[in-house]
Amino acid sequence: MSNESLANLLKEERRFAPPAELAASANVTADAYTRALEDRLAFWAEQARRLDWAVEPTETLDWSNPPFAKWFADGRLNVAHNCVDRHVEAGHGDRVAIHFEGEPGDSRTITYAQLKDEVSKAANALTALGVTTGDRVAVYLPMIPEAVISMLACARIGAAHSVVFGGFSADAVASRIADADAKLVITADGGYRRGKPSALKPAIDEALTKVDGVQRVLVVRRTGQQVAWTEGRDVWWHELVDTQSPEHTAQAHDAEQPLFILYTSGTTGKPKGILHTSGGYLTQTAYTHHAVFDLKPESDVYWCTADIGWVTGHSYITYGPLANGATQVIYEGTPDTPHQGRFWEIVQKYKVTILYTAPTAIRTFMKWGDDIPARFDLSSLRILGSVGEPINPEAWIWYREHIGAGKTPIVDTWWQTETGAMMISPLPGVTHTKPGSAQRPLPGIAATVVDDNAAEVPDGSGGYLVLTEPWPSMLRTVWGDDQRYIDTYWSRFEGKYFAGDGAKKDQDGDIWLLGRVDDVMLVSGHNISTTEVESALVGHPAVAESAVVGATDATTGQAIVAFVILRGTATPDDDLVTDLRNHVGKTLGPIAKPKQIKIVAELPKTRSGKIMRRLLRDIAEGREVGDTTTLADSTVMNLIQAQLPTTD
Ligand code: ATP
Ligand code: MG
Repeated sequence: MSNESLANLLKEERRFAPPAELAASANVTADAYTRALEDRLAFWAEQARRLDWAVEPTETLDWSNPPFAKWFADGRLNVAHNCVDRHVEAGHGDRVAIHFEGEPGDSRTITYAQLKDEVSKAANALTALGVTTGDRVAVYLPMIPEAVISMLACARIGAAHSVVFGGFSADAVASRIADADAKLVITADGGYRRGKPSALKPAIDEALTKVDGVQRVLVVRRTGQQVAWTEGRDVWWHELVDTQSPEHTAQAHDAEQPLFILYTSGTTGKPKGILHTSGGYLTQTAYTHHAVFDLKPESDVYWCTADIGWVTGHSYITYGPLANGATQVIYEGTPDTPHQGRFWEIVQKYKVTILYTAPTAIRTFMKWGDDIPARFDLSSLRILGSVGEPINPEAWIWYREHIGAGKTPIVDTWWQTETGAMMISPLPGVTHTKPGSAQRPLPGIAATVVDDNAAEVPDGSGGYLVLTEPWPSMLRTVWGDDQRYIDTYWSRFEGKYFAGDGAKKDQDGDIWLLGRVDDVMLVSGHNISTTEVESALVGHPAVAESAVVGATDATTGQAIVAFVILRGTATPDDDLVTDLRNHVGKTLGPIAKPKQIKIVAELPKTRSGKIMRRLLRDIAEGREVGDTTTLADSTVMNLIQAQLPTTD
């Protein structure tokens, strides 16, 4: 960004108070902010006591060697014991931990007592395969219970997992296995996606011709597909794990024991191997899940639709919810298999009360039409969450109206792989929500917006989002590359964590996320956020989704180019394009009018659903398209190019 701070274009005046009943019985009330402000470390020490420690920590934060933090460093605990065994010991063994829904319609119910047995057997199996404390295990699985069981089994024995998206190519898997130096890979023959079995093991077989160090491959049988078999290396889960003893004594590990390595989505560049550890991470994932979703473990049914290969799956499927003893739904497949109402059918079937999904999914549901969710009984829902990208105000309103019956609070949660847990979000029983704003740092979190000189911007202005104090679930480093950790996050503004996102503070001091700093456009000397222009476009009734980029322009420095997906009923003609340009001009001001609008059928997205604007910038500037390896569907770029005239 240049010295000109981000223009503050979007005006959004709608406000929604928390439902009275929810506010009256909320897990967390406004006094949490006050207590955390008075003594932040005491607040986090109090939250750490939600966990069961083998050795209680006496020290909260060690920040003597910044930016390398240690939290609860003299405490010892077992993460898997906290997520499973202690709930059984507390008499909740019969409570359902996981309602698994397979894409073909098969289902499985796993209670906490059963989960304890499964995790114990898997931990015994890992030990039998020679995995010990401090090793790394790569996990390449579909969204099946064995994914969660594998992660917890690793945690139980103190081995760090590195989960890799089931959709990634052999090369992407190979580089992640090599970077983490994994000793074991856990995979499956395949999983179900879009109505058919999709193979996984061949990618592992190919990856392992390219990297050394992996001694054994543990294979879950999910689809029954034919698989190649390497004797002495490969072993079936049902032959090894299912025959183990369900008794396993969980040893305590240091609070700073590595829990996992996870690579960022690669939206802006080469993925980074983010390292998370145990005690601080579990404290903050458990606390935020309790506070932001107001989870009542006896009565709620929680569903996070993320993939386990994304940080949201780690923190808000495996660790946070299970640490809190939640009952949750895990769904294997895609939202349109076998029909576009599949999500709503699942909500109806399990009476889901808390739903956590991504803006990309919400905009897709908007495109499919209001009539689809209207066919199902969604009255069990009481809280809706959003994560992954800025949520456009119109998508937020659609979510509340059509999924939340016009009454459920929406929690727009800002965080990153690096932060490990939610950082900025409304609290459903406290916050008067604003469509499109993540609003306030959670209790115990210090975040603000600064200008180029690291000075806090006044209310009503934009700049860079920074975190000004360490937090328990923060990344500890980039795996094997401390210097990259320092350079990427702690060098831009002295003593502050640079998140890489643009943001503004409104007149109330609430925070609005404006997209990646790398994506901010500079038009005639003004910094304009892609998010605001996209939100203006999505606010037009003909538009379902849009992605905006700045392309080099001789007169204005950069010119705004918008890629637009229309809603089902709209006709793509010149009149519509003119109308859309004028609509943006009217909503945000003439400076934000796109120079070009390109109507397309698809947008390039990462497997976690984020739009990769850098690829669209390549197209807009007529360059060869850059690295597409983390795209969910690599054919999308060809499709977009084929749809566009070569010059215009
Ligand atoms: P890479 O760093 O490799 O480009 P990535 O940033 O896409 O990958 P993640 O850690 O999964 O990988 O994504 C975090 C980013 O997602 C945030 O920095 C932010 O840009 C965006 N994000 C997440 N939640 C929200 C939200 N509620 N509002 C706005 N943006 C969000
Ligand atoms: Mg990032």
